[in-house]
Amino acid sequence: MIQPPPLNTAELQAMDRAHYLHPFTDHKALGAQGTRIIERAEGIWLWDSDGNRILDAMAGLWCVNVGYGRTELAEAAYRQMLELPYYNSFFQCANPPAVRLASAIADIAPAHMNRVFFAGSGSEANDTVLRMVRRYWDLKGQPQKKTVIGRINGYHGSTVAGASLGGMKPMHAQGDLPIPGIVHIPQPYWFGEGGEQSPEDFGIWAAQQLEAKILELGVDQVAAFIAEPIQGAGGVIVPPATYWPEVKRILDAYEILLVVDEVICGFGRTGEWFGSQYYDLTPDLMPIAKGMTSGYLPMGGVIVSDRVADTLIEEGGEFFHGYTYSGHPVAAAVGLENLRILRDERIVDYVRKDAAPYLQERIAGLIDHPLVGEVRGVGLLGALELVSDKTRRARFAGDGRAGGLCRDICVRNGLVMRAVGDTMIMSPPLIISRAEIDQLVELIWRCLDLTAAALK
Ligand code: PLP
Repeated sequence: MIQPPPLNTAELQAMDRAHYLHPFTDHKALGAQGTRIIERAEGIWLWDSDGNRILDAMAGLWCVNVGYGRTELAEAAYRQMLELPYYNSFFQCANPPAVRLASAIADIAPAHMNRVFFAGSGSEANDTVLRMVRRYWDLKGQPQKKTVIGRINGYHGSTVAGASLGGMKPMHAQGDLPIPGIVHIPQPYWFGEGGEQSPEDFGIWAAQQLEAKILELGVDQVAAFIAEPIQGAGGVIVPPATYWPEVKRILDAYEILLVVDEVICGFGRTGEWFGSQYYDLTPDLMPIAKGMTSGYLPMGGVIVSDRVADTLIEEGGEFFHGYTYSGHPVAAAVGLENLRILRDERIVDYVRKDAAPYLQERIAGLIDHPLVGEVRGVGLLGALELVSDKTRRARFAGDGRAGGLCRDICVRNGLVMRAVGDTMIMSPPLIISRAEIDQLVELIWRCLDLTAAALK
């Protein structure tokens, strides 16, 4: 193999500026500041092209569940590339890793979900969701049942269907979204929107917005409700304890499908295999991606309940839907090995019994910092609300300026956390040790001090 000549940071940045359009990026701002080039990683640590070591408290984009540097995953990809680098799953074909991965995922999914449709990403998974939901109701003889209810500030991807199902206003504003047949209800974000209500009352209120919307549209028009168990990109929004039970009561009362987007919560993040198990939900469809391969290769999918799969299979004939890379053998081989690691190393148990209680206990202490108005989290997801006055849940002026400042200070001090407005969020690799959690919390405290000083 011929290696390209090495480039230094300035050369890479110049090339990047000239040719590379990044996702979710203001290129003018990026051009002025220069891209941060990440060169290598190990465990929970990243190294940039200037040799700085950075604690990755986001596991990439919520995906590197088993941590960086697992040679078994590289070997699985290498072996599979030599054996069969690609073949499609159209036209009555399959390949061994994809078949085995579908079966392995069915083993860990809720008991009533036994089939998997493969995609290339979480966004593609949600495009598949929309196609399947519509097809299901057509086959049930209710073609008017087409409207999907999502949530404001939910995130389900960036394709036209994914961005429409999601409720991100800035995304909708760029491209005339959502597409017809998708509507949104308020999110269960007590800290930001709960006003004077208690979290419990607000959770009931937010859930009842679903019932109000179903009744407004007419139950014969509503196909499905889609939600993340815990909103990730929206700001690690952990719903009040009353929310999901009330949503379940409403779903039981009306005949609509439940789509639980497990792209972030799946594969151990909450301390259960899936967020649906954490909240005791009975989904009809579960889009998955990210932790499915720990991000080592792109892959997504939809886990399908027997109710939906049986209808599609028994009554549907050919479903005109699929992707060139559905069931990609190399991604599937990596997914299988990733599941083996999660299972054999008891990583999900480790999260539930050890890492998550410890992380939550340690970050809870950050409430003593003057900048922090709330700390919340489940499993290895966490959020800190930055406030100017914690007694009143008062925000800083500048619409996200404090969060942006804190995020930049974090990076300069060797820590990746993400800012959503003034909410600082984390989602570290599941293999983070107790000692590393201590390091993480010390770093956060130091960066909060620096942020507080910069805001004065
Ligand atoms: N669904 C959720 C809950 C997500 O968080 C994401 C990505 O962050 C997606 C879907 C889209 O996944 P992808 O970026 O792989 O298309």
